[in-house]
Order: sequence, then C-alpha cells, then structure tokens
Amino acid sequence: MNDPGLLIVVSGPSGAGKGTICNALRKRFPNIYYSISMTTREPRNGEVDGINYFFTDNLHFEELIRIDSFLEYAQVYEHYYGTPKEYVFNMLQQGKNVMLEIDIQGAMQIKNKYPKAVFIYVIPPSLDVLTNRLKSRHTDSANVIARRLAKVKDELEWLSEYEYVVINDELELAVERAAAIIVAEQCKVSRNHHLITSIHAQFKD
Ligand code: 5GP
Repeated sequence: MNDPGLLIVVSGPSGAGKGTICNALRKRFPNIYYSISMTTREPRNGEVDGINYFFTDNLHFEELIRIDSFLEYAQVYEHYYGTPKEYVFNMLQQGKNVMLEIDIQGAMQIKNKYPKAVFIYVIPPSLDVLTNRLKSRHTDSANVIARRLAKVKDELEWLSEYEYVVINDELELAVERAAAIIVAEQCKVSRNHHLITSIHAQFKD
C-alpha cells in the first residue's frame, strides 16, 4: 500500500508562462505525470493530437460529459476543455503525482471534489510583460490576444482561492519556487501515512 500521489493544479492567465513552468517541472520531477486534456479548439501550429491535447468535436465532448468521464471540464474562450478522470485517478491511486494545467473554473471544481490537491497560481510580474509575451507568441490573432488580456483582471480575483502564487518574473526563479512548493507538499506528514507507519513498525519491540 502507498499514500495517494500528489495532484498538482496549476492555473494562471494565458501568457503568464504556466506551460513553460510546467514543462520545466516535468523534466525536473520525472515522477510527475502530466494529464493530457481534451479540447474542442483547433490545434495550433505544431500541436499534436495525444501530446498537447486530445482534439475532438463538440458532439464527442458532450457525450463524454454525459457519461461523467471528466474530473472537471469548462468552456474557455468558447471551446470545451476537460481533464479525463480515469487517467488521473489511476495514477494517484498508484501513488504517482499528477499535474494539471487548467483554468480557474476547472480548478475550483477540483477544489470541491478533491481538496487534497495543491493549487498553484502563476502570475506575470506586470501587465506590460504579459502583453509582450502574448504578442511574441505569434500563435493568436490580435483579437484573441485582446480578449485574453481583458479576462486577466477577472482571473486575478480568484487568486485568493489558491494556496500558492508563483510570480514568473524570471523563468528559472519561477521554476525554483514551484519546485519548492512541490517538495514541501510531498514532505507533509499527512501525505506520508504509509511510510511513517512502516517506519514506526520497525522500531516496535
Ligand atoms: P489554450 O487554448 O491556450 O491551450 O488553453 C486555454 C486555457 O484553457 C488555459 O488557461 C488552459 O490552462 C486551460 N485548459 C487547458 N486544459 C484544460 C482542462 O482540461 N480543463 C480546464 N478547465 N481548463 C483547461
């Protein structure tokens, strides 16, 4: 028997750099598994089905909602995004850690269903930096960027629902901060019952 793995939920405005931070964390912690979300939005240049997302259509997505396949799902910028439930629970049960990079609506659903998860919010150091990052990505139209920026103000209101904030001023520093959070959470007594019990047992006469 083992304790369940850690469910790490990372959110933040688009352009805050959460994707880059999550990728760095995955390299650093090979025991963190990344849940691939399903979405109905079109793949961007270079995105691959089954790697970046499982791309699908509304009909299929809504059928999966109906049969309760998602741990959480939300409509973001008019498209569905959701976390397949089975993969996440299988991994956690095996004691493996899982990371989700999802929006606030999804994170709040997880907070209700699985409050043991760790909630991390990534923010940019300033509006200027965020605007420049979104523009330099060259992946979205000016219209989409404007909508994403307009949404940030509302998104920041949700910060107090998270336990941890990581300011992405410098990528390396931000990754260090997030890594420190993960290590500290992994060391919590409440997350290590089985390990502690087995050590206790060895010291019994
Ligand atoms: P993008 O289209 O830029 O890849 O993602 C748009 C937003 O959807 C981001 O904030 C991203 O974190 C969020 N997102 C990605 N996958 C999921 C998911 O499975 N569930 C929810 N609720 N949000 C997601």
